[in-house]
Amino acid sequence: MAELKGLSESRDLTRIERIGAHSHIRGLGLDSSLEARDVSEGMVGQLPARRAAGLILQLIRQGNIAGRAVLIAGQPGTGKTALAMGIAKSLGAETPFASVAASELFSLDLSKTEALTQAFRRSIGVRIKEEAEIIEGEVVEISIDRPVSAAVASGSSAPSGVVAAGKTGRLTLKTTDMETVYELGGKMIEALGKEKVQSGDVVALDKASGKVTKLGRSIGRSRDYDAVGPHTKFVKCPEGELQKRKEVVHCVTLHEIDVINSRTQGFLALFTGDTGEIRAEVREQIDTKVAEWREEGKAEIVPGVLFIDEVHMLDIECFSFLNRALENDMAPILVVATNRGITSIRGTNYRSPHGIPPDFLDRLLIITTQPYTEDDIRKILDIRCDEEDVEMSADAKVLLTKIGVETSLRYAIHLITSAALSCQKRKGKIVEMEDISRVYQLFLDVKRSTQYLMEYQSQYMF
Ligand code: ATP
Repeated sequence: MAELKGLSESRDLTRIERIGAHSHIRGLGLDSSLEARDVSEGMVGQLPARRAAGLILQLIRQGNIAGRAVLIAGQPGTGKTALAMGIAKSLGAETPFASVAASELFSLDLSKTEALTQAFRRSIGVRIKEEAEIIEGEVVEISIDRPVSAAVASGSSAPSGVVAAGKTGRLTLKTTDMETVYELGGKMIEALGKEKVQSGDVVALDKASGKVTKLGRSIGRSRDYDAVGPHTKFVKCPEGELQKRKEVVHCVTLHEIDVINSRTQGFLALFTGDTGEIRAEVREQIDTKVAEWREEGKAEIVPGVLFIDEVHMLDIECFSFLNRALENDMAPILVVATNRGITSIRGTNYRSPHGIPPDFLDRLLIITTQPYTEDDIRKILDIRCDEEDVEMSADAKVLLTKIGVETSLRYAIHLITSAALSCQKRKGKIVEMEDISRVYQLFLDVKRSTQYLMEYQSQYMF
């Protein structure tokens, strides 16, 4: 098998964050007794469903969910995907989350079992640890096991940065500066000891005098600080000692390893999506290798969450594949969703609840989602405006909420970005009612689009 070259690069690139439809979801928003808070971690309302998801989370953490899966049943746009994302996020930032619509599995390029296998392997993470030389200019994180009151994270090349952590009693320095890596130790800790710094302070260290100067306070989600995240290499450094080697942790999915090792063009295939069928023997070799690494303590499996939307579109063969795949000890948590009631099981003449065969239905823990109230819609739209950095007047928000109630939550969310563009075009500072009305007239929602088609159907081809 080819070496795992290119893994770190691919990870860095695949981790580029976009403002996606669910990027505001950071968890399930539960308190310590697993009760759902009304608005928390980007989640709003849907309290019974979130409480149920919290219990599932507990089962997952206790390792009691093997061989079972979760079904989220509810009308379109009631947060089924958001809930599945919330489960994945609550399991930890490194937990892979893969989402497919069942209809995507039926393509001409891939067989449905291959498409399902790829989806499964996209939701199984492998945390690989290795030792490597520190290279000049790299961002490294140094942690010293010594109780201190603050921690420093460096921005760019200078040993200055944002004071983070603090609560952990560990000093963490993130830096790209080699000298700091080597010189660190007593000096930095002493300096921090003299100057009272608090979590959130931005500081600079003068290496000659060892003096720490406060530069100011960081704003909550400092981009500089965030940027360090996924690229950060970890170095364990006993106080005062020079450290030239680092422990590097790569987090990749089994699918990424499959692709890198099965195509001549390497990891670029991950971005074109043109991965093609992956040969069974490549996967077998990878599974053997990963099992070896696990035995040697070099790798750990991180079962993620696989979300399959429109599950009623799966046929009987796909369901038998899922039944088998769930028995695997590396299986991710399978969450399926549907908005159908009793309907026929694809590929058969039988009808069943949600179009799901009874043997698979029997494995499922079922959660239902309810339509949103006007208040919930307003809160979700508020969160989305924040997420997309869109400032909106109170009147415009009221109008957008009304539109959300009359049409759908998803349609109203879509209008945020386009209304912001309309505002930009007229050189306005904040989105006003006129921007919302303009984009509402430009883009049809489902109801108006259907009405339009009914009125003008004679002009379309049938
Ligand atoms: P479909 O049946 O069409 O697949 P869905 O039930 O999966 O829809 P989502 O896509 O999860 O619905 O929800 C639509 C949008 O509303 C998404 O941007 C989602 O993140 C957001 N959203 C839904 N429910 C909540 C919630 N409870 N809190 C915060 N955001 C939510």
